[in-house]
Amino acid sequence: MDEFHVIDRFFRPLARGFAGALELRDDAAFISPPPGMQCVITTDMLQEGVHFFGHEKPSLIAKKALRVNLSDLAAKGAMPHCYFLTLGLDETITETWMADFAKGLEEDQAMYGIALAGGDTTRSKGTISISITAIGLVAEGKMLCRSGATPGDHLYVSGTIGDSAIGLALLKQELSLPPLMRNTPIERYYLPQPKIGLIPDLRYANAAMDISDGLFQDTRHLLEASGIGAEIRLESIPVSKAMQMVKTLSPSQFLPLMGGGDDYEILCSAPVSPGEHWTEIGIITPEKGLRLIDAAGSIIPAPSGYQHHLGRVVGP
Ligand code: ADP
Ligand code: MG
Repeated sequence: MDEFHVIDRFFRPLARGFAGALELRDDAAFISPPPGMQCVITTDMLQEGVHFFGHEKPSLIAKKALRVNLSDLAAKGAMPHCYFLTLGLDETITETWMADFAKGLEEDQAMYGIALAGGDTTRSKGTISISITAIGLVAEGKMLCRSGATPGDHLYVSGTIGDSAIGLALLKQELSLPPLMRNTPIERYYLPQPKIGLIPDLRYANAAMDISDGLFQDTRHLLEASGIGAEIRLESIPVSKAMQMVKTLSPSQFLPLMGGGDDYEILCSAPVSPGEHWTEIGIITPEKGLRLIDAAGSIIPAPSGYQHHLGRVVGP
């Protein structure tokens, strides 16, 4: 498929309504943030065989690529504005594949209020790569950073933790759960739900980040950036029914999966609860480092997290 045909047929319609995209007929796009607003910019690249298998529905791959970026914007308190799409497409890509890929983007553009502003399309050898750069808007000086956590804050997470890692472990047949328990985690693995709706809740937060590498790993990143430490109570971490079942049926996998990553929930540090969609999991302490406390009150090792490869979830 010819690059210009792909742009014309599939991407130009996705740029409609975003004036700065210049209908994808120019060398570059422009962005005009409203007065008092700042652009927040984030990039994530997805590689076939590393971040997705390749046999998924193209619309699902497209949505995942866009949503991992929207998750970063949400964690920074930024509303989605526009995105750039860079594609490396191998010879196997057909018109039908592209049509479904574009349909996935179209659906998510409508869902999250974002438009395509430009990109680049090249040939690649053997595997597909998709890089999206998303741009969000935030009131000037209000982007939430990892570095703002202070003693006196509590740590909060949205949603439940570890489900996507359970989904991946099920797909890789490294874990078995009763049939009725499989669908929800597998769906969470394939399709992240960026927490755009929780942006208003973050107004009192001092620091925030999205959980992509795993709760424990990402908490360490936030603590390091803030130059402080934290105590997390294992029992307080919100879990789904599937995770409760893992704890009973396969206790040795419980902790690694809890820290397994791809959650796309938000971790924040705040002096008060951000609201009903959040669970308090621990406190910020002046002593550096992460201390994970079990039900008996003992400190236990927290797993290091997810290495970005479909092949490996690393244990403690
Ligand atoms: P250039 O020669 O400057 O790289 P291209 O021919 O690659 O320009 O792109 C032409 C136009 O199509 C530009 O506006 C570019 O942003 C857009 N474009 C190319 N590939 C994509 C893509 N994958 N997604 C969105 N827009 C694209
Ligand atoms: Mg180009």
